[in-house]
Amino acid sequence: MRCLDGKEVSSVIRRQIKEQVQKLDHPPGLGVILVGEDPASQVYVRNKFKACKAVGMKSIEIKLPATICPDDLKAAMTDMNENPDVTAYLVQLPLPRGKGFETQQVMSWIAPYKDADGLTVESLGHLFAGVPKVIPCTPHGVMKILEHYKIPVEGRRAVVIGRSQIVGYPMAHLLTDANATVTICHSRTQNLYSHTREADIVVVAAGQPQFLGKDAFKKGAVVVDVGIHRMDNGQLCGDVDVEDLKGHIEALTPVPGGVGPMTITMLLQNTLKLAQGRG
Ligand code: NAD
Repeated sequence: MRCLDGKEVSSVIRRQIKEQVQKLDHPPGLGVILVGEDPASQVYVRNKFKACKAVGMKSIEIKLPATICPDDLKAAMTDMNENPDVTAYLVQLPLPRGKGFETQQVMSWIAPYKDADGLTVESLGHLFAGVPKVIPCTPHGVMKILEHYKIPVEGRRAVVIGRSQIVGYPMAHLLTDANATVTICHSRTQNLYSHTREADIVVVAAGQPQFLGKDAFKKGAVVVDVGIHRMDNGQLCGDVDVEDLKGHIEALTPVPGGVGPMTITMLLQNTLKLAQGRG
């Protein structure tokens, strides 16, 4: 089973980003607003800032307590929208539950020209209208992995498990754009395996730890595992059962070290693009 190593692809792309950053008059600045103290989100934000520094970008953080009201979050976002040091920014998701935050509404407060994650209605509209500006980072990162490892996409059958705005829908769109024949599966899909077992490429973004083994895939399939979960022993795992897949599928992205680093890399790329006025 080949390993589709996201760290390797990331290092190639981050080197190119660093070269481009050095050509700019001012270093781009990536802003992050973190609401609450979710430990996983804190790790993600730390990793994003580390990656920024490594390519010569600045980072600007606003930390807010989970008890903040939506209006105060909106005010912090207005600061980000108006701060000339912030080229692009994101609000770390998920937002704390049960505090009155509507994710899509919060996204609408991001100025589209500062949309680092590519998740505003404007960015998604451009993508789905076939004139992409900034592209959601995780699905874009998946496409870059497939490209780097020369996994043929055109004419092949692909299944995307998950239909979130962040991963599933834009993933299905990008694969369709690359001329795959795409099926989206989700929690209401009946007989999931009847779809996945037909697919040459399966992108799994269901958020269910290790829930798919070899019975779910045809022999020789390429599987991209987007899920990230922390197990009781402290280790990370994805949505598939890696041990079970060995010797059955052709290639798999590891967790960690697969889609995760690519998501951050594409965030840097979006920030660079917006700094260059190409967003
Ligand atoms: P989400 O909860 O918004 O969406 C999950 C989707 O999976 C839903 O559409 C749901 O219908 C579907 N689903 C759930 N259980 C299913 C099942 N048993 N069968 C078929 N479909 C099922 O999640 P999301 O934001 O899209 O993220 C998905 C996973 O990817 C999570 O584990 C998340 O942590 C991870 N993630 C990783 C990265 C990364 O950089 N690696 C980025 C974003 C999300």
